[in-house]
Amino acid sequence: IETIMSEVMDKTPPITWNDIAGLEFVKKTIKEIVIWPMLRPDIFNGLRGPPKGLLLFGPPGTGKTLIAKCIANESKSTFFSITASTLTSKWQGESEKLVKVLFEVARSYQPAVIFLDEIDSLLSQRSDDDRESSRRLKTEFFIQMDGARTTGEERILLIGATNRPQELDDAARRRFVKKLYIPLPEFIGRKQIIINLMKSQPCNLTEEEINRISELTEGYSGADMTHLCREAAIGPIRNLEGMIETVALDQVREINSQDFLD
Ligand code: ATP
Repeated sequence: IETIMSEVMDKTPPITWNDIAGLEFVKKTIKEIVIWPMLRPDIFNGLRGPPKGLLLFGPPGTGKTLIAKCIANESKSTFFSITASTLTSKWQGESEKLVKVLFEVARSYQPAVIFLDEIDSLLSQRSDDDRESSRRLKTEFFIQMDGARTTGEERILLIGATNRPQELDDAARRRFVKKLYIPLPEFIGRKQIIINLMKSQPCNLTEEEINRISELTEGYSGADMTHLCREAAIGPIRNLEGMIETVALDQVREINSQDFLD
């Protein structure tokens, strides 16, 4: 269990709403339907209770993982995270057991958020990979999700993320009661990502230049924007590359000659 937990429990720094650029409508909806109910189960009970399953779908790199982390942090829940491919490849043959243990541990840590990335590859309707093992895994998931739903007392939220929602089968779709589309960032979102990243780095871009970049990057995802800014930040240092290499080589030579002298 310890090995499992070290793999699925999140150790990254907490994510807050401010770390997520744009997506104002998504944030507002999540606060209303997920965060408040999770923070105040005394008021949001019965019909007002939080959903047990939330599906985030949309293009890659639009912040689905960030949102899941943020939900866990803002609802003061323990965050567990696993990708479907890890589950099926690394834990091959043992994956249903892992799912069972994961939910059990999450129960003991509740309120808890379980984030399952690439959920389509696990709960898809494709018949070619409908092998016995993947069927068993699917069933175990549904059992655990249904268990969490019927007892009502449990404060476990399963968040699934996918770029291919059309591949989920009906049984999976039904269990993710809430479904939220996470779109590519608009101009304002792209601009916000640049500004947020610039805070950590001295940079003399003017407002007009930032606006221009934000305009030119229509169709870029949040991940693309981050990548672009990182590339730009490395630019000035790239010119120094030769120099850094020379210095490093000199140091190596020095160390080697010292070894020799010793
Ligand atoms: P995938 O579908 O590929 O798993 P994803 O939708 O889960 O992607 P994330 O992993 O959350 O996307 O985002 C990747 C990176 O892109 C984040 O670590 C972050 O740096 C940046 N990013 C994406 N969207 C946003 C956003 N809305 N605000 C700030 N940063 C973002």
